[in-house]
Parts: sequence; C-alpha cells; structure tokens
Amino acid sequence: MSVFEHSEFDGHEHVAFHQDKASGLKAIIAVHNSNLGNALGGCRMWPYSSDEEALRDVLRLSKGMTYKAAMAGLKQGGGKAVILGNPRTEKTPEKMLAMGKFINSLSGQYISAEDSGLTVDDLKLMAKETAYVSGIQAKYHINSESADGNPAPSTAYGVFVGLRTSVEHTMNSDLKNVKVAIQGLGHVGMRLAKHLCNQGAKLYVTDIHPENIEKAVNEFSAIAVNPNDIYDLDVDVFAPCAMGAILDAENIGRLRVKVIAGAANNQLAKEVFGQLLVDKGILYAPDYVINAGGVIDIYHQSIASSDKGLRDHIEKISDTLLEIYRRAEAQGIATNIVANQIAEERFSK
Ligand code: NAD
Repeated sequence: MSVFEHSEFDGHEHVAFHQDKASGLKAIIAVHNSNLGNALGGCRMWPYSSDEEALRDVLRLSKGMTYKAAMAGLKQGGGKAVILGNPRTEKTPEKMLAMGKFINSLSGQYISAEDSGLTVDDLKLMAKETAYVSGIQAKYHINSESADGNPAPSTAYGVFVGLRTSVEHTMNSDLKNVKVAIQGLGHVGMRLAKHLCNQGAKLYVTDIHPENIEKAVNEFSAIAVNPNDIYDLDVDVFAPCAMGAILDAENIGRLRVKVIAGAANNQLAKEVFGQLLVDKGILYAPDYVINAGGVIDIYHQSIASSDKGLRDHIEKISDTLLEIYRRAEAQGIATNIVANQIAEERFSK
C-alpha cells in the first residue's frame, strides 16, 4: 500500500499510523493542511474491509476538513482520524484511552471531535489522556439549546440561514409560502423544519422512520411524502438532510426545484454534476459551506466566545454563499467548483 503515491494523498502534511497491542487499537490520523491553524476533524470508527479502505477514507475526509474550515473562516486546518473496527462489537474503553494517547502524541497538531461510530462518552474517555479533544462540553448555545455535545442545533441554524439567503438571491423572496422539501428528519432536519415553519415556509417532509414524519406533520403542519417521491415534487427548494451522493444524474433529472440547500455531506455523487445543476437553472449551496455550523460550534467551544459570538459566526455562512454565487455567475461555472477555488485561495500560502 503506497501512501505518498496514493490517489487521495494530495500533499498531506502528516499521516500517522498507530497500533496499540494491549488494547488492540489500530488507527490512522491524517493532517491535510495546517496553514490556517492546527487541524480539527472528527474521529470515526468503522469496520473497514481493508487498511487501504481506511487510509482512503481518512485522507479524503481530512482534505474535506481543510476546505470546510477555510470556508467557515476558522483559524484551523483540516485533519481526521479513523479507528479500524466495528463500533458496535469492537469498541472498548481501553481502545478509547489508547486513542487519546495517540492523539496526544501529535502535541496538538490534530484536535479530535466526534464522528460516525463514536459518542461524546467515547471522547470523554479520550480526553483523560489528551487535551486535544473538542466538542465534549458545550459552553455556548444556539437558541439556548444544548444537544449533549452534538452540534446539530448550530448546523441546523446555519443551513436555515444559508437556505434563506439562497432563496432571497435566486427568487428575490423571503420564506413565507416558499415550498421546501426536506429529506431526513433527524438531528438537523427536524430543527431545520422548525426554523422554516417559524418563517411561514410550506414543508414537504420524508424520512425512513414514519414517527419522524408524523412529528413534523403534527408540529409544523408539514405534508408527508414517501421517501422515493421526494425528488419529484413541484416545490421551490430541496433540502437534503439524510445521506450523501443523492445528487446523481437520475435524481437531478427528476428535480424541479430552484434551490438545493441542505445539511447532508457529499451531496453530489460526482463533482461534475454541479454543472448539471447549472444547466438546469438550479442554485446549489455547496454542502460543506452551508453545513459548517457544526464545525463553527466546535471551534467556538474551544475558544473564549459567547452565544452571540457563535451565532454571528454562523450567520457569516450567508456572506460566504453570496460570494460564491456572485463569482459563479460572473465566471459561468458551478458553485461547488467556485467554493473549492475560494477555499484553496484561503488556505494556500
Ligand atoms: P441523523 O442520523 O440524526 O438524521 C438523518 C435522518 O435521515 C434520520 O432521521 C434517518 O431516518 C433519515 N434517513 C436516512 N435515510 C433516508 C432516506 N433514504 N430517505 C429519507 N430519510 C432518510 O443525522 P443528522 O445529524 O441530522 O445529519 C444529517 C446529515 O447532515 C448527515 O448527512 C450528516 O452527515 C450531515 N451533517 C450533520 C451535522 C450535524 O451537526 N449533525 C453537521 C454537518 C453535516
């Protein structure tokens, strides 16, 4: 397995492999770029089928964090960690403590947070061995809401602000009576629904769990939609808040919306599909820009800030999106490509 020649290597500054024989921990930490500051990124535990798959994932995710941090205006670089193993059957306190020691061995070059397969309690165990863990204690809140270390309230607020800006930009309208289809009513989607309902938007919602749909129907007068029908609606906005890679050629062909603005990571199945959206006249809010409320939250929890400081920073997502939209229109290129260009300008020396 080659590292320097790896197709996802992309000039990573540091890739560290670690095995702790006593606990059985096997993990990789990747630091993509630290020009703007020490690298921040989640730690994921996943039953990878091979070391190669784990390496590919950590390299791809840490690079993504560099771009996200740069666009969120954070004095932070991009990094990520992966623990090889099944989080349901192979996670032990000993492995979490060993992971804390591994993180500590990088002396703050990488700061960890929660990601798939790990909980706040796991991070608290790691924090017994290192100070370089963030997102375990929320000091500052959006709407006075604490969600046990999950930054979903901040992510949802950022998506709401970004969605509102995107609608204003392309429809010249506020959110009253604007029709929004939300895919996924989890930690982020349900809170987004509440923000939108408060502004008078008309909601169409789907989820694979009927009880989530029922809640949105009861609380926000939303209209229930089957998961398979969410792409075919005659609505103004599509807000993907479930899984990634949903914007493929087939689904883009079905969409009749003016705006796509949602929380899901890696929404475009391929970067080139950004151009398909331009061709269809759909304004796409690049996912890692509009869903940065969570990483902004984690950053603020690690500095001296305030509820207002956190809120003001999240609201800057609007300015960033407008910068992207104006440049994309002036240059005639897709918004996802422009976002990457601006991020590279910000983090390159
Ligand atoms: P979540 O797991 O709480 O919610 C996801 C919801 O989507 C669940 O209710 C699930 O039942 C539903 N779902 C799954 N498959 C579906 C399908 N095929 N059709 C309709 N609904 C489906 O996750 P979350 O924390 O709300 O995050 C949502 C998305 O936003 C994820 O892609 C996540 O990576 C991304 N994101 C979240 C945060 C955060 O702060 N939580 C930050 C950045 C990005």
